Amino acid sequence: MKFDILTLFPGMFSGPFDESIINRAKARQLIDISLHNIRDWATDKHQTADDAPYGGGAGMVMKAGPLASCIESVKARHPASTVVLTSPQGRRLTHSVALELVHSSGLIIVCGRYEGIDERIRSIYAEDDISLGDFVLSGGEIAAMAIVDSVTRLIPGALGSNESAETDSFGDGLLEYPHYTRPPEFNGMIVPEALLSGNHELIRKWRRKESLRKTRSLRPDLLSQVTLTREDRNMLAEIEQEEACVL
Ligand code: SAH
Repeated sequence: MKFDILTLFPGMFSGPFDESIINRAKARQLIDISLHNIRDWATDKHQTADDAPYGGGAGMVMKAGPLASCIESVKARHPASTVVLTSPQGRRLTHSVALELVHSSGLIIVCGRYEGIDERIRSIYAEDDISLGDFVLSGGEIAAMAIVDSVTRLIPGALGSNESAETDSFGDGLLEYPHYTRPPEFNGMIVPEALLSGNHELIRKWRRKESLRKTRSLRPDLLSQVTLTREDRNMLAEIEQEEACVL
């Protein structure tokens, strides 16, 4: 999958894209990331990429000209790629959005800065607009990293055999079960017996039940969106009883 990232700060990406799963996906040629410095497309001698907002007020706005030239040049090389803006006004990045994006042949991600980009760029080029959540970042770079990371994890072969996107939270619509590793006792707290049993069916059941318990307690909204099996419903009934006993 091809990722083209349009930014005024390409230096921010060295590090996050040179480690761990993303680096391995690049080495395996599952993804290819190109960084484009929007400033290289400015035509004046100061390479100006931003200007004061019409109507006055604080901050600067990213100019349409350099952005348009940069998008067009990248799009000419990758016509099938989707142009994605980053903005706090976009649709929220979720697991299902990442699953949608992984089916594109490529993403051209535009990182805004300052007060954002000239609105005409949105009108002409935007095919999608992604937000990380209801807060304001200083720029779209961290959002672009989150998009690349969450999408790459879903590409078959990007995760090692010991890692799995399906059992991760949201993979099956629920939050994932809790994890433990050695030692078996820490600060007087012991690892749940089922996990030490070596009995795969017992472990599977424990994990499913704890996944349901976590989801019920932390994200009950997710429970109403999944198809529950009879076993799930029985487990939820048990959880309800257990919690009623604790109260
Ligand atoms: N003035 C804008 C915010 C601009 S923040 C507003 O109030 O809506 C500057 C840039 O940071 C944006 O153009 C966008 O690229 C990025 N950004 C800020 N918050 C973001 C968020 N929650 N999700 C994704 N990108 C964000």
